[in-house]
Amino acid sequence: MQMRIGGKEVSSPDESWTEVKNPATGEVIDRVPAGSAEDVARAVEAAEAAAEPWKKIPMRDRGMVLFRAAGKVREQHRDLARLLTMEQGKPLKEAIDEVRGFANILEFYAGISAQQAGDMIRLGPAGDCLVVREPLGVCGAIIPWNMPVLIMGWKAGPALLAGNTLIIKPAATTPLTTLKLGAILDEAGLPPGALNIVTGPGPVVGEALVSHPAIRKISFTGSCATGTRVRELAAMQLKEVTLELGGSDPMIVMEDADIGRAVEGALRGRFYNAGQTCTAVKRLYVHEKIARPFTQRLKERVDALNVGNGLGPKTDMGPLNSAAGRDFIARAVDETREKGEGTILSGGCTLRGSAYEQGNFYRPTLVADVTPASVLLKEEIFGPVLPVVTVPDLDTAIREANRSSYGLGASVWTQNLAVTKKVFDNVHAGIIWVNRHLTVPPEVPFGGMRESGIGRENGHHALEQYSRTKTLFIGW
Ligand code: NDP
Repeated sequence: MQMRIGGKEVSSPDESWTEVKNPATGEVIDRVPAGSAEDVARAVEAAEAAAEPWKKIPMRDRGMVLFRAAGKVREQHRDLARLLTMEQGKPLKEAIDEVRGFANILEFYAGISAQQAGDMIRLGPAGDCLVVREPLGVCGAIIPWNMPVLIMGWKAGPALLAGNTLIIKPAATTPLTTLKLGAILDEAGLPPGALNIVTGPGPVVGEALVSHPAIRKISFTGSCATGTRVRELAAMQLKEVTLELGGSDPMIVMEDADIGRAVEGALRGRFYNAGQTCTAVKRLYVHEKIARPFTQRLKERVDALNVGNGLGPKTDMGPLNSAAGRDFIARAVDETREKGEGTILSGGCTLRGSAYEQGNFYRPTLVADVTPASVLLKEEIFGPVLPVVTVPDLDTAIREANRSSYGLGASVWTQNLAVTKKVFDNVHAGIIWVNRHLTVPPEVPFGGMRESGIGRENGHHALEQYSRTKTLFIGW
């Protein structure tokens, strides 16, 4: 596939390519141009040319373009989901969810496009002020490989609706569905250049995007290390940034929880997308009064998960997106086992057999009695490994939950309102779920505190972050 610049498919002038491989089989499924800083500059020119015409279209009509694109995505969702599974690895049913989620986001922003409001400030004899919002201009979006379609929607939906033009840099391993969705948005009526997609290595294309003086805002989702680099570069030009970085979400299960529901919540919360989700359940704290039956039931469910190629009809969990990611979590589990910092109840190894040989598979893994020193609790584990810790009371659970430099999400499983309030008031996280985890519909502001990032995506909050106020002060 080619990149998209100015509404057209374009190759990189130096004709160098990056292969895209299926993480389940190791097969090359396509290739994309290994773009350069020159390609970013071409995309910026196209985005600047489209900025004025796009900004002048009434917001309601911009919303209609998103709405038409959502319809086309729904019509093609099966093909798009299949492509997503092939490049990312996730089971087809999860890929379908994600593609439909993308359509949902565009529909949400189309739906609020008629509600654009401003403020009127009356100052008596001094005059009146009219405060309106206007777009920032050309924006850049850097997208990761774990939920490439959903995260593209989180950025493109509000950025375009607010009247900005956008340049997207997809992750090296998952550019294909993003490019297809870019073509769909163009067909739905975006002016050429309103949305551009430049493929290529992060340190080259990503940094060129962040450093380009014409780009007014960067929205980045990915690792803390790269996010910090993005922020440093953006700060040199006083650019706005939204950073959605890592997380190590705690899940607290109290003694009055509905055990069956909490087990299913932990299963989905950790093993969805093979554990490669920023708000996955990464640390599980269970009250000692229910720890034994809870852990037993969870183990049975983990052992029953079907691991395989995401296109397989019975697959519950696919491979990890990269061999490096698989090897990182394998090392973390091995270290915990060798140091006696936890007891492996399920998994704890790669899968053997011809069906798995070329893929990045790792068994769904459950580790009990994990000590605070374990890397499984101290670092973000971006894979299917769930450490379980038994706690004597809520205060201990809250203290342990906050023992992390992250603050993205957290959940508490209880019927008790006072417990809920105490967790809400005291756990450091951008979102606290009660009796669920992981779900982030487009209406709900999403983002973290501490090292999990800066800014919010989704909802009208994101729309505000892709625009700024401008005031007309009339001295009558
Ligand atoms: P990165 O942060 O390196 O990659 C995310 C995106 O940033 C990709 O598009 C990548 O491009 C791009 N990028 C890489 N280097 C730069 C740079 N110097 N300047 C600008 N953009 C850049 O994450 P990794 O893929 O290395 O994943 C490592 C870990 O990060 C994971 O194991 C996980 O812990 C965390 N992570 C968290 C995510 C989240 O949702 N919060 C998502 C992804 C990762 P390219 O692919 O070409 O390198």
